[in-house]
Amino acid sequence: MLRTVLMHGLFALGSRLVRSQVRRELAILEWAERADPEELRARQEARLRTLIRWSYDTVPYYRRVMDQTGVSPGDIRGIDDLPLMPVLLRRDIRTHLDALVSERVSKGDLLRRASSGTTGAPVWFYRDRRALPFERASLWHDLGWAGVTAAAPTLFVRRQVDNEGRRKWTRWNWLVGSAFLPPELLYALAPGPVVEAVERVAPALIYGYPSLLHLLARAVLLSGRPLRARPRCVLYDAEQMGDDTRDLVRQALGTPIFSRYGAREFSAGVAHTCEYGRWHLNTEGCVVEIVTGGPGEARGAPASKGRLVITDLRNHAMPFVRYEIGDAGAAGGEELCPCRRTLPLLGGLEGRDWEWIVTASGFRIPATMIAPMIVGLHGDLLWEYQFRQDRVEELEVVVVPISDYGENRQEELSRHLEAALVGQITVRVTPVGHIPREPSGKRPVMKSTLHQGR
Ligand SMILES: [Zn+2]
Repeated sequence: MLRTVLMHGLFALGSRLVRSQVRRELAILEWAERADPEELRARQEARLRTLIRWSYDTVPYYRRVMDQTGVSPGDIRGIDDLPLMPVLLRRDIRTHLDALVSERVSKGDLLRRASSGTTGAPVWFYRDRRALPFERASLWHDLGWAGVTAAAPTLFVRRQVDNEGRRKWTRWNWLVGSAFLPPELLYALAPGPVVEAVERVAPALIYGYPSLLHLLARAVLLSGRPLRARPRCVLYDAEQMGDDTRDLVRQALGTPIFSRYGAREFSAGVAHTCEYGRWHLNTEGCVVEIVTGGPGEARGAPASKGRLVITDLRNHAMPFVRYEIGDAGAAGGEELCPCRRTLPLLGGLEGRDWEWIVTASGFRIPATMIAPMIVGLHGDLLWEYQFRQDRVEELEVVVVPISDYGENRQEELSRHLEAALVGQITVRVTPVGHIPREPSGKRPVMKSTLHQGR
């Protein structure tokens, strides 16, 4: 208790000391929650016009695309004019990466990053270092909605290493008593060690992937006793949380559940849920459109339900204008949310689902945990990949190489994946020319014929 009070004091002090830019951005995000919707839209459209003008003047890719289609920056006066621009696809980024970088950005402001890998189509891109204070402010803001601060002791139930191989660990995490839950404990569904690990941290917040939260909840229920230290809230991102998982988490942890929606490609969170479970959009950071057409179609007209294409208003180093993220959603209504925040709403969101890799000894490992490893290791050598499993002894990884992908590389990949799968299963890598789409047009990151029974 004393520690918590102390940490809150330290956090209050620390947040005064951090760069004033984060505080300024946070204040704006807090103001925007209850601002006049027309004013919010006017601010968003002003940022949009600046971004489009900048993209035309300084980014060769956009200059060429706009010249080819006869669109001038002055034609994009607001959000309703955005469909004049084509949709930006992952393959455009892979093919035209250099041309997508602004000629007027300094090398020091470019942050090379990789996509999460959970779509099965890896992509490397650049983020804008100047947008980092906004990213930080957006996280703090979202935590505030969940009722905690960045000083809350947090149990992370997610990957600990990012795609660039860095450990997501900071001195701050250590200082406030946060910790990562070793995923192996969850894969094995070992109730005793899982419950002990949670109680050791006594987290105020549990922040993770739905697939792993599902395993965590099951382990807690299997232990046959309630947690001694109940967290204040659960926050998830990166995957969809189905009703079955939501029920399990509620039953096991008894806490409210919040969610953030975004992607590594964007400067900050795109949307997050309020206490009524509705999605509110981050209008200071992006423009979200819902458009017609199947995945990979360069044109898209406004629709009430369909693909999400997102324009990041904060990345001027490598602008993402109308980027197809690979998720689907529905437009939110005009009515005011019961939480009385005026930030616009997003209707249903169909994000990325997960699938289990199942092993002979009963381990359940979500493909989401393994896929990013492919991006980090060989993301620049592969167009796309898919996990397939028909037997518990073996996992097949089907890959579509960009160029030569010989046996050495295949072995390297299978060795790394086998290690990540804690030696529980053999991995076979199969290069192919093409991965067929499902009738829906989607290409799931994993296909399994084994009983999935969550
Ligand atoms: Zn709300």
